Amino acid sequence: MSAVLSAAVPSAAAAAPAPTAGSPVAIGMPQVPRARRTREDVEAAAVVSGDKKVMLAAPRGYCAGVDRAVIAVEKALEHHGAPVYVRKEIVHNRHVVDTLEQQGVVFVEELDEVPEGALTVFSAHGVSPAVVNEAAERNLQTIDATCPLVTKVHREAVRFAKQNRSILLIGHEGHEEVEGTYGEAPDHTTIVNNPEEARTVEVEDPDNLIWLSQTTLSVDETLEIVSILRERFPNLQDPPSDDICYATSNRQAAIKKISPSCDLVIVVGSANSSNSVRLKEVAVEYGAQRAERVDFANQVDESWFEGVATVGLSSGASVPEVLVQEVLTLLAEYGYGTVEEVVTAEEDIIFSLPKELRAEMKKVGDNDRSLGGRRTNSAN
Ligand code: SF4
Repeated sequence: MSAVLSAAVPSAAAAAPAPTAGSPVAIGMPQVPRARRTREDVEAAAVVSGDKKVMLAAPRGYCAGVDRAVIAVEKALEHHGAPVYVRKEIVHNRHVVDTLEQQGVVFVEELDEVPEGALTVFSAHGVSPAVVNEAAERNLQTIDATCPLVTKVHREAVRFAKQNRSILLIGHEGHEEVEGTYGEAPDHTTIVNNPEEARTVEVEDPDNLIWLSQTTLSVDETLEIVSILRERFPNLQDPPSDDICYATSNRQAAIKKISPSCDLVIVVGSANSSNSVRLKEVAVEYGAQRAERVDFANQVDESWFEGVATVGLSSGASVPEVLVQEVLTLLAEYGYGTVEEVVTAEEDIIFSLPKELRAEMKKVGDNDRSLGGRRTNSAN
């Protein structure tokens, strides 16, 4: 787990009452006290011209793939009891991971940390065939919570490798999703991390070349990388459909809309959440005077509000809405009580749960698919 909080900042989950092992996870409102300067002190430090308000981006927060993965772990706990092992963070959010740990989930980096035969969930980011094979060798009972939109990219990689094509995989080397996709066809795949690498990458057969991408990249940067690649390799083929997922595109479109009007944009999301980090970058590229990313409201520094009239707010695809609401509460305390929600798309996608779970739930007549912290569109 690479998202690390300052030792001075207690985690939201740590401050919540310990939930009962085996019961569905309730992702509750964090209680995180922190000494702060007063609103009057902050306002005295710099004059604010204009009315104070919040522009709240929508869509934001939980996507369908994250929702499905968190519910999969909740259901695994409910049906099997603790411990449930999860390879890597189920989704890249500190609060979700801490809350599930309190419920009896054990997060491991690799499968050799899991006892033989134990129940193990694969995270939303997906795994390579080598990991699936290792799980089988260790007789692990597995639930695959890979997002179906990541699975789609895996299938494309397998198909194009079978056609003996070379694949340029645009994505961040070392990210779990990229490791999983690369692992489907390592002999055919070259990872392109950024525009600089697009300018220098070499391929064996430039006339039999296709590009794929990680699902959570910056839309604009990916287009730039593809255009550089196409200049060098004019016969480069596009994937059959966009690999950057609907949730990533929609959240970036919403933050692009609000950023030109914002003095400050706050993105709620963890440091290892690719789409949260991209949102912060996009906010600045599209005109926000300043952008900051926080896991929790208590990481918001009130000095950021000096001279600020309009605060933009959004959250990454792995962030429960409760964390955004806590930032809104804090903002209201500093005079940003007027909230304008700017909606650039409606989302109603829900993925069915992993097949292993559906079979088990059917056996015991469990039809409940409670939403594991999925956000609502309301600003209230
Ligand atoms: S961000 Fe996109 S690819 Fe990732 S889990 Fe959500 S819907 Fe799936």
